[in-house]
Amino acid sequence: MAYDPRGEFKTVWQSVSESESTRLMQSVVQGGYCIGCGACAVVDNSPLRIVWNESGQYEAAIGRAGQAERREAHVLKVCPFSGIGPDEDVIAEERYGSWCERDARVGYHLADYAGYVLEGNFRENGSSGGMVTWLNVELFRRGFTDAVVHVRPTSLSTESSALFAMGISRSEKDILSGSKSRYYPVEMSHVLSQIQHVPARYTVVGLPCFIKAIRLLARTDVRIRDRVVCCISLVCGHLKSASFADMLAWQMGIPPGQLSAIDFRHKILDAPSSHYGIEATGCCGSRTMTRIRSTLELYGYNWGYGFLKYNACDYCDDVVGETADISIGDAWLPQYTCDSAGTNILVVRTSEIDLILREASDAGRIRLDRIGIDVVVRSQDAGLRHRRDGLAYRLYLKDSAGDWRPPKRVTASAAPLDARQKQIHNLRMVMAIRSHSAFRSALIAGDFNVFVTLMSPFVKAYESCYRRPFWRRIGGRILRFALRVTGR
Ligand SMILES: Cc1cc2nc3c(=O)[nH]c(=O)nc-3n(C[C@H](O)[C@H](O)[C@H](O)COP(=O)(O)OP(=O)(O)OC[C@H]3O[C@@H](n4cnc5c(N)ncnc54)[C@H](O)[C@@H]3O)c2cc1C
Ligand code: SF4
Ligand code: SF4
Repeated sequence: MAYDPRGEFKTVWQSVSESESTRLMQSVVQGGYCIGCGACAVVDNSPLRIVWNESGQYEAAIGRAGQAERREAHVLKVCPFSGIGPDEDVIAEERYGSWCERDARVGYHLADYAGYVLEGNFRENGSSGGMVTWLNVELFRRGFTDAVVHVRPTSLSTESSALFAMGISRSEKDILSGSKSRYYPVEMSHVLSQIQHVPARYTVVGLPCFIKAIRLLARTDVRIRDRVVCCISLVCGHLKSASFADMLAWQMGIPPGQLSAIDFRHKILDAPSSHYGIEATGCCGSRTMTRIRSTLELYGYNWGYGFLKYNACDYCDDVVGETADISIGDAWLPQYTCDSAGTNILVVRTSEIDLILREASDAGRIRLDRIGIDVVVRSQDAGLRHRRDGLAYRLYLKDSAGDWRPPKRVTASAAPLDARQKQIHNLRMVMAIRSHSAFRSALIAGDFNVFVTLMSPFVKAYESCYRRPFWRRIGGRILRFALRVTGR
């Protein structure tokens, strides 16, 4: 009989008497599939809270010993990785199925655009075309929403020692302070708790798994259902631990612990928009300094390596945020990256948002070009390959080992990949896992070179998978020479 993870998962649990919290801890958290979203921590009677682990990531933990068993809390249904609640297809079908077309790669979609903001400083201050922050302000100005839940630097929020945290902005000035992508851990338990306690109409900006968690929570919590009036998802490659910011800043002369601010998407004039820089501010000795370096010069920035990423991201099949009212990402295609100012892709799922965008476009406030869904898909080609054929292979490995893993919409299989592709995915998995311990070793030694030394063998093996074989390189050279000589 075929392995059915969802069935097996349920059967095992029906036969045990542990609380849902214990079961969530044993499967999702201990299996390494927790993204630290915080949804489980705000369920009634939940004994769970969100903690910062030794790798610089958020994850769920039991509050106090024995607390998990005291009163039942229905935490399984709200977790985006437990597989107990409905999946992205079901959630999106219920919300958007009546008026949207469905595409197997990006889910339901009403209209697809490439564009950027023309008015104000949104594009200049944004990561890409500035559309996320512009839409937040537009919804606020039109009275569609009273507050925006998004990620901001922590100087605005006193309760956190991390560099960035999710916060609630109730003024245009605060909304503007939340622009830029933060490749940095965040969690939602505090803001979700505020939504539960303070009635208002909230717009939430989040990564796809966070938006899914909100949709699941809304099914059991009417306050979340009625008060979250709009969800905007960022397209997502993967999420990094806090060490990723330290890894970059350390190479720029700012040691770990001394970093006070970081812009992961500093735009470099006249360079392709994909060749952005990092701007880091912090102390070196008694000096405070700000430095900017191109990501091309920084060791470990290559997203294909997957250094310091959450393990959960390797078991995620939602690239664009299929359960959100609109998904916004970068237009990673040559016709758009040639403009260093940045261009967004937008996948719209509601007619209200589509109308707002089209009105603004007609008024010359934003630039909007209608594009086909295949253009959206091509712009996220690498992410989709990693989370379709790559994910099928990782699931196959988990199933072969007999390990529990989250049920996914992708079927476990090694078939789509040839030997070279399997090696690439094997190395990505190893690099993602080893990078956390290698970075800890570098911290203990107080020397960044320790990290480079420990990771280099894997990087070398990985790069060699992409190198063309010797005979092909030589063959290519001979062919080019022959064409030159014959004048063709
Ligand atoms: C971890 C991560 C991975 C990403 N991967 C991809 C990818 O593979 N492909 C792609 O096309 N795009 C990806 N993006 C999205 C991309 O970086 C831009 O955020 C997006 O194009 C919007 O640009 P903008 O100029 O419109 O946004 P801006 O106007 O700059 O606004 C950015 C918004 O995102 C919010 N935000 C920032 N960081 C986070 C976070 N960690 N979690 C939740 N919200 C946050 C901010 O609060 C703000 O509201 C990723 C973003 C993040 C944070
Ligand atoms: S992914 Fe979110 S809901 Fe699931 S265990 Fe982690 S914090 Fe809780
Ligand atoms: S890759 Fe998936 S699991 Fe990871 S942060 Fe992005 S949406 Fe969440």
